[in-house]
Amino acid sequence: MQPLESWGRYPKARQAAVSVHWRTDPLPRVHGSLLPFGQGRSYGDCCLNEGGTLLATSRLDRFIDFDPGRGVLRCEAGVRLGDILAFAVPRGFFLPVLPGTRFVSVGGAIANDIHGKNHFRAGTFGRHVLQLELLRSTGERTVCSPAENAELFAATVAGLGLTGLITWAELQLKPVQGPFIESETVPFRGLDEFFALDADSSQRFEYTVAWIDPRPRGLRGLYFRGDHSARAGKAPPPREPKGFPIDLPGFAVSGPAVAAFNALYYARGRLRTGRKLVRYAPFFFPLDAVGRWNRVYGSQGFLQFQCVVQDRAALGALLERIASSGLRSSLGVLKTFGDVASPGMLSFPRPGATVALDFPNRGAETFALVEALESIVRDAGGALYPAKDARMSPATFAAAYPRAGQFERQVDPAFSSSFWRRVRAA
Ligand SMILES: Cc1cc2nc3c(=O)[nH]c(=O)nc-3n(C[C@H](O)[C@H](O)[C@H](O)COP(=O)(O)OP(=O)(O)OC[C@H]3O[C@@H](n4cnc5c(N)ncnc54)[C@H](O)[C@@H]3O)c2cc1C
Repeated sequence: MQPLESWGRYPKARQAAVSVHWRTDPLPRVHGSLLPFGQGRSYGDCCLNEGGTLLATSRLDRFIDFDPGRGVLRCEAGVRLGDILAFAVPRGFFLPVLPGTRFVSVGGAIANDIHGKNHFRAGTFGRHVLQLELLRSTGERTVCSPAENAELFAATVAGLGLTGLITWAELQLKPVQGPFIESETVPFRGLDEFFALDADSSQRFEYTVAWIDPRPRGLRGLYFRGDHSARAGKAPPPREPKGFPIDLPGFAVSGPAVAAFNALYYARGRLRTGRKLVRYAPFFFPLDAVGRWNRVYGSQGFLQFQCVVQDRAALGALLERIASSGLRSSLGVLKTFGDVASPGMLSFPRPGATVALDFPNRGAETFALVEALESIVRDAGGALYPAKDARMSPATFAAAYPRAGQFERQVDPAFSSSFWRRVRAA
């Protein structure tokens, strides 16, 4: 088995790995703690377990049952969301919540209670989980749902893999006419224009998200919005992308190179405004066109910073701090969360604006920037996203996740992670 790492490739962890082949298998007996591992699409250390053992779930990839009358799918937890779409779209169904990559497992989607471009309508992934089976280190298998073993269910959704191994889950899919999205791109400048566009678009469109470029000369961005098209038809499922062949040297993601890329991307977006009919994959997963694009950042990896804040002044301060840092980000995303309640005790989404940016790992310089951003978020009463985090302090975690104590009572004592030990350090 290849060494397992997180998407940001920072931090590095030394850990053993055991593959889970069957949902009926018992948990392996190991020295040290256990942690489930999906597709390693989390950026930081919530999928890492330094000194312990990862339970690799990529072989737990079977569909178990599908009820086309109700649109309910039961599958093993290692099934990837892209594989569900490839199966469901030709049958007239779609996943109600999707992240920015299709290479995420069902178990990982539940354990981080992921959100998509339609949070203001659909809420998080966990809201669409009807039930799941949890295998605990005692050997006990517990079926959990919002009605049955509800406390354990609320701990397992956004439970960061700490309550046990999810072996299978039952998901409510939603009906669609076909594989197409009516999409539109609108360029904007500054936060006021973003919020005006967003207020209007969230009334009229199901999916919204913006790409942003915070520069010393001011913020600019491209606003993407879309709806499922009523047009029926077939589209072949997207192919497995070719992997990025090498780790690039540091200058490939230097400030000038990123600034040049962003200028080109913005100019291209300005030429492509207006409505278009596109297949679902390039609309939802534009980054999946290149496999393992994280190698662009070299072996030292990169950090993603994603937070949610309600206060617009704090959002402005964050973007100004980034713009003046000299560390340009080519993958900035800005969107708003609605007020649909999240089902998990540790769910990240809450009302406000969420911004996500990638920074190359330049050691002290990058850590200082991320720390400064974290303190703006903490002072504003916001939260950082565990799925994207590698540096948050225990104080910031405790302030943003007040149900952590209640959650801790549901943690399986044989399970742990690098993230958990970091944020719960005394
Ligand atoms: C390009 C890109 C775009 C992204 N866009 C978004 C986005 O728009 N919205 C969003 O919310 N996230 C987004 N993410 C983050 C991603 O959706 C989450 O990190 C997700 O949890 C990754 O799933 P995974 O299968 O790779 O799990 P891993 O990263 O391997 O693990 C994540 C967590 O799930 C736990 N886990 C995995 N399997 C199980 C199981 N069977 N039982 C119990 N626990 C389990 C692990 O222990 C770990 O704590 C994005 C990531 C990338 C790389």
